[in-house]
Amino acid sequence: MRTSIVVFTCDLRLSDHPPLRAALRGGRRVVPLFVRDRSVDAAGFAAPNRLAFLADCLGDLDARLRQRGGRLVLREGETVMEVCRVATEADAEEVHMAGDVSAFAIARERRLRRALEAEGRRLYVHDTVSTAVAPGAVTPASSDHFAVFTPYYRRWSAQGLRDVLDAPRAITVPEEVGSASLPERGEVSGVSPGLCAGGETEGRRRLAAWLRSGVDAYAERHDDLAGDATSRLSPHLHFGTLSPVEVVYRAGRAGGAGAEAFVRQIAWRDFNRQVLAARPDAAVRDYRTRHDRWRRGKRAEADAEAWRDGRTGYPVVDAAMRQLRQEGWMHNRGRLLAASFLTKTLYIDWRVGARHFLDLLVDGDVANNQLNWQWMAGTGTDTRPNRVLNPVAQGKRYDPDGSYVRRWVEELADVKGAVVHEPWRLPAQERSRTGYPEPVVSLAEGLARFKQARDRA
Ligand SMILES: Cc1cc2nc3c(=O)[nH]c(=O)nc-3n(C[C@H](O)[C@H](O)[C@H](O)COP(=O)(O)OP(=O)(O)OC[C@H]3O[C@@H](n4cnc5c(N)ncnc54)[C@H](O)[C@@H]3O)c2cc1C
Repeated sequence: MRTSIVVFTCDLRLSDHPPLRAALRGGRRVVPLFVRDRSVDAAGFAAPNRLAFLADCLGDLDARLRQRGGRLVLREGETVMEVCRVATEADAEEVHMAGDVSAFAIARERRLRRALEAEGRRLYVHDTVSTAVAPGAVTPASSDHFAVFTPYYRRWSAQGLRDVLDAPRAITVPEEVGSASLPERGEVSGVSPGLCAGGETEGRRRLAAWLRSGVDAYAERHDDLAGDATSRLSPHLHFGTLSPVEVVYRAGRAGGAGAEAFVRQIAWRDFNRQVLAARPDAAVRDYRTRHDRWRRGKRAEADAEAWRDGRTGYPVVDAAMRQLRQEGWMHNRGRLLAASFLTKTLYIDWRVGARHFLDLLVDGDVANNQLNWQWMAGTGTDTRPNRVLNPVAQGKRYDPDGSYVRRWVEELADVKGAVVHEPWRLPAQERSRTGYPEPVVSLAEGLARFKQARDRA
């Protein structure tokens, strides 16, 4: 019997999985392989929240494979060496995997192809596994990628989706291929107490619930901080426990303004990926330099520390930063406010903020995180690079009665009404009773410093 290998990376599902479908063709045996590669950790992946979510995903993938007569094969080591080793053990003639866009993934793919070809085996890399539209599938006339979202979105929307594939009914895994034991969530320390559960089963449950009773209100409610009315599907899209093609297809079938606005966000995800695919260095370097000379030194570090700890003295920013620590996830409006505050009000390098987000976010993703940070810092694809979000005005607008702030900032839990966004307006005694910190900088001072820096640049 002929044998193929499927190398799972950020596509930890059986439904709508083109590499798996291709590997099974002609009744082949398949080794579903995941390599726990420490060099992925060294590249910035080893955040406890993501490792815990990953453990859930691998456990669920194994269970779903077993329901079909198969099992997951887990190996520890360097990806290329382990895939080649398993290929020898199983006498596999071909290897299938999903295409990816980070510099790390591209280099890995190149090395793997070379190593397999040297042994007379073939590597097949499949697109539209981790994106709805493949990076590079739509391009403007004059460039290899779109640098502005709106024209990208127009072309993206006109691009047809491939068919959604069912999960296979049966999988035969060669018996001679052994596996290391799967990791367990409980073995990971430093996990956020409110971290959500991972796995394809959970992702599919969430998607169904969202399409049934969330997406319709998305267009009006997605910015409502306290309402928490977004899908929370980002970790599932990041780990590929849900397929973006299937998500777009099913949302499209649900129809309506909410679904349309939601699908537009999935297009943002693809947009960032096509930018990173064309400019892998955007993970670490300004996409468009503004010649910033970011603040450094002791005072800047103390400000960054206050920001990380949710002690800036601006309640909505602090609420968002505390949500991040508590849940390993943050509302998009909170991410925008936190990023604007760090890069513009405090004038601290976007990489400092992006690093902290990657340390905690369960959906932490090189393309989405780094490019959203660059967008907010004005070094990315935003066509208004110098806009500064005012955390007080934004707090009053997107958290009008202050519930979001009261939920996350316990010092302010008893402060009634919208004044919770401006605790400095409370009577002095009441204010000092809260124990909530003074603002690290006045908004006027922060704005003047930023304007001066960008004018000088
Ligand atoms: C500074 C900053 C850092 C961010 N870091 C990440 C990150 O590491 N990983 C990540 O997945 N998203 C990131 N985002 C984008 C966005 O905030 C999250 O995707 C979103 O909040 C996830 O919640 P949700 O699943 O409920 O989103 P929904 O509002 O329900 O949107 C549906 C899906 O669309 C995608 N999406 C939504 N907004 C964006 C966006 N602005 N850019 C790209 N894709 C988007 C996500 O996959 C999301 O799950 C970041 C945004 C900012 C401003």
